[in-house]
Amino acid sequence: MQTIPQSALVIVDVQYDFMPGGPLECVEADDIIAPLNLLLAKRQFTKVVITQDWHPHHHISFASRHPGAEPFDFIEVNGLQQVVWPDHCIQGSPGAEMHRDVNWPTIDLKVRLGTDPQIDAYSAFRDLPSKDERCHSTGLANWLRSHNITDVYLCGLTRDVSLLWSAEDAVELGFRTHFLWDITRPITFESDPAVRQRLTELGVIIHEQPVTVENGHWTLPPLKLLASDQTG
Ligand SMILES: [Zn+2]
Repeated sequence: MQTIPQSALVIVDVQYDFMPGGPLECVEADDIIAPLNLLLAKRQFTKVVITQDWHPHHHISFASRHPGAEPFDFIEVNGLQQVVWPDHCIQGSPGAEMHRDVNWPTIDLKVRLGTDPQIDAYSAFRDLPSKDERCHSTGLANWLRSHNITDVYLCGLTRDVSLLWSAEDAVELGFRTHFLWDITRPITFESDPAVRQRLTELGVIIHEQPVTVENGHWTLPPLKLLASDQTG
């Protein structure tokens, strides 16, 4: 299988707390595991990056930290309106572990998100901005550039939050950005039309790879490469 030149697969937050039954579950999140394993087995990417949501206790993004707030309320945090979440992905907890059913390959870079008790992070690239527009980089963009990566392929959880924010940043930071739609799941499918529209507006390349079962085996259609990907 040909490697896609200058490409990085960025696998976002495939952790138990985002799985069905977890505090911040994504619908049908289990269904990304089989296609993700098929994709990983193809070894098509120059680099593989994973992110891990990794919060201290009493993280600012938790509703429990804000008296009177309920999970999924939209309140002012650090001077900006943002959603507060159920407690999730607490450092060292079972829910924060990477999913053990994924055949994790050699990981070139692991990025931990939301480690500052006072600042939330959705994107693989940077923290949420605060009122003074302080916005810490995770270092991912510079790392990708140092390895001459031009194309970022996003998959994982959650389609409508972390992956959408990551796609926005990847585009802004100058990467050609690909979204592996069928290897992502949202917190709610109701967000899908808006997410698709935003990705299209951004110029993100959406790859549809619906996984199917043939002769008892999962199959994943090949990535449709762009002409410029096939020269290297
Ligand atoms: Zn989080």
